[in-house]
Order: sequence, then C-alpha cells, then structure tokens
Amino acid sequence: MGKLVKLVLGDVEALFAKAKNAKDAVVAKRFVRKARVLAMKHRFRLPVSFKRLFCKHCNAYFVQGKNVRIRTTKGKVVYTCFTCKKFMRFSYSNKKILE
Ligand SMILES: [Zn+2]
Repeated sequence: MGKLVKLVLGDVEALFAKAKNAKDAVVAKRFVRKARVLAMKHRFRLPVSFKRLFCKHCNAYFVQGKNVRIRTTKGKVVYTCFTCKKFMRFSYSNKKILE
C-alpha cells in the first residue's frame, strides 16, 4: 500500500467515524459525501467494508434498525435505504458490489 493511499484511507476512516458519531442524519450525510469525494479525487476505491456503511444513492449513513433494512436472499445481501428507498446488493462473499 502506497503512502498516499494510506493517507487517504486514514482520512476516509476519520470521516466515516465522524459520520457515525454525527448527531443527525444530515450531518452524517455530509461526512459521507466528503469521504466519497476525497476517495474519488485520489481515484481511491473504497473498501467494501466502507461501502456497506452508507447508501451509494443518497449518501445516507446507515444505522441498523433505523434507516436501513438488511436482507439476505439467494446468496446476496440486499440493503434497502429508507431515506431514498433504493436498494444496494452485495454478493455474499463480501468481495464486490453488484450493480
Ligand atoms: Zn439512500
């Protein structure tokens, strides 16, 4: 892992931590957006562990039992975002997002 990648990853981690600790959903969204923009700027692919933390459609930071429903069907994990009502599907292997 390169030095810059480590730096970006550190910043992304910090932003997601802020999103997690944010007092309300609007503030959390802002941090998620910042993290995504930062990653994009550096052409850095977010690890799947991060991708599962937020809605890729509206940047909502997921809080289980609050703004997301997680279901497993046919080897896939389906996340339903309550904020924008869209879905995200992940393969069971945790390796990639299914578009
Ligand atoms: Zn959403």
